[in-house]
Amino acid sequence: MTPELETGLYIFILAGFLGYHVISRVPPLLHTPLMSATNAMSGISLIGSMVVAGAGHGGLSTVFGFIAVACSSTNVVGGFLITDRMLKMFKSEQEHASQAVSFFRGKEAPIVLGALMGLLVAGFFWFENLRGLLGHADLSEGLKFSYILSAALFILGLKGLSSPKYARRGMFLAELGMLMAVVGTLFHPAMVEFRWVFLGLVIGSAVGGGMGLYVPMTAVPQRTALSHSLGALAATLIGVSEYIRHHGELGKVLMTAIGFEVVIGGLTFTGSLMAAGKLQELLPGAPITYRGQNVSNLAILALTLGCLGFLIFSPWASPVFYTMVGLALLFGFLLVIPIGAADMPVVISLLNSYAGLADAAMGFVLMNKIQIITGSLDGTSGFLLSILMCRAMNRSALNVLFGAFGKVEAEEAGPAAEAKGTVRSIAPDEVNVLLDSARSVVIVPGYGMAVAQAQHGVSELAKVLMKRGIDVKYAIHPVAGRMPGHMNVLLAEANVPYDQLYSMEQINPYFGATDIALVVGANDVTNPAARNNKSSPLYGMPILEVDRARSIIVLKRSMRPGFAGVDNELYYNPKCMMLFGDAKESLNRLFASLKT
Ligand code: NAP
Repeated sequence: MTPELETGLYIFILAGFLGYHVISRVPPLLHTPLMSATNAMSGISLIGSMVVAGAGHGGLSTVFGFIAVACSSTNVVGGFLITDRMLKMFKSEQEHASQAVSFFRGKEAPIVLGALMGLLVAGFFWFENLRGLLGHADLSEGLKFSYILSAALFILGLKGLSSPKYARRGMFLAELGMLMAVVGTLFHPAMVEFRWVFLGLVIGSAVGGGMGLYVPMTAVPQRTALSHSLGALAATLIGVSEYIRHHGELGKVLMTAIGFEVVIGGLTFTGSLMAAGKLQELLPGAPITYRGQNVSNLAILALTLGCLGFLIFSPWASPVFYTMVGLALLFGFLLVIPIGAADMPVVISLLNSYAGLADAAMGFVLMNKIQIITGSLDGTSGFLLSILMCRAMNRSALNVLFGAFGKVEAEEAGPAAEAKGTVRSIAPDEVNVLLDSARSVVIVPGYGMAVAQAQHGVSELAKVLMKRGIDVKYAIHPVAGRMPGHMNVLLAEANVPYDQLYSMEQINPYFGATDIALVVGANDVTNPAARNNKSSPLYGMPILEVDRARSIIVLKRSMRPGFAGVDNELYYNPKCMMLFGDAKESLNRLFASLKT
């Protein structure tokens, strides 16, 4: 083991532990911004890509480096912008009341983005001259310090996410860290050519800027998946380019690092693309299964690792190397097709973790310590979020990856639905009468609220009720919706102060004293079968105990089941009334009746 590798491994492990410590303090409220923040930070692969694109190796190495610069800068710019957009929405009641005017309102965004592009182009010409003036001055010591400072700023940035109050400030520090690392890398002694680097930066910033500013909040899951695929593509291309550059003359350590980089990068690239396609409904969301699927997938994985093992001892065998890359790409694709669209959040989180590992492997290949640190942080964050999601759903990661969940349960759902009893429906006018006599209302949002885009209507209704002196609270289940923290982001977008949002543990004891539980498009997270029915696939999942409220009103379109594909016992409870229809339309009808 070389001393550099030893140091790298120590850094990787320590950064992982530190990441675990810092990230486990991020409240569920901020889990979606956490995902995009770590995603932006893992765009640090940009600095390795810049060195490869600018080292003047020419040929495929420069082309791959250029593509990797464009992909990584898309992640950096897009990731930080969308994180900031989300964090800006999280305001306390006091902040809402103070009506603080934001310096950057969003309308001027295209102008700012255009100016940034102009600055990058002007910076290129200025920089060419500056490099000429500096001649062969050795700036590598300064560069090392800038990387150390950047790493510290990234960790402080993540620490800021432990509270919505400090989150934006923290992210500003992380952005500063990224800027320092990128500008510092321009002075890297190996960089001699800047055209492709700047062009990649301009393209990546334009694409990332567009995505970060204009992607709707409901499309955050697919944007996250897409940027994981871009990060992984960058790592894979740099791995291949380094393999080509060394003409197969690689030591065991370097070959192992390149192997891991291209294998994890390759499978994350295709896997994340599939996940994004399923979430965007470009691909069928239902799990695609066939006989012997898990066995054949495991065989492909074993073959890929076999190739890697062979290459460690015979690195010059380039056909084996390219076969390994192809198998990794195929494995990523096959890994995701049997997983239903609704399980994609766990998959995205896991792929986030893999993208971090690919980034760290790239750090080992280029012996770039800051990449090892951010890769390890990203890996830990993705892993932790996956575990939290699985725990909140009472499922194992193996069940998510190999269980084809949506398919099996949907088939079982049909017959159970009929034998339970009477379902009472209610009209908007009657809901009004009930609300009139209520003193406390708990709103329970779920995936249906996101589908209907009903968050603004929900927030308006809450305001009307509060004006009438009714105590209104929001109950947020950790896996309501399709992303960790999904509901928090949507409600923040609709100007709901975060201090009105209550976690499951906080709100459950309160349901017994609640007059009305208003369930808006939530289903599984309210199903009492999770508590009472041992044969239910939901059994053991902690739920929001809405059935303990005095009355329950459910807004949904039909009696169709939710994500788990199981019938909800709640709807047969005599205290429960169904306001059927699209949640947004139902709320509009409710407002109309409120006015009359
Ligand atoms: P859910 O159980 O999937 O139910 C959503 C309900 O919304 C459906 O029953 C649907 O009924 C209704 N709906 C859909 N479109 C609607 C519209 N336009 N207007 C009104 N209602 C509409 O959602 P959930 O209660 O939020 O639970 C989340 C589920 O996702 C859990 O099972 C959880 O384990 C899983 N999950 C979550 C995450 C995460 O990180 N959040 C990750 C992975 C899995 P109709 O079709 O009848 O309208």
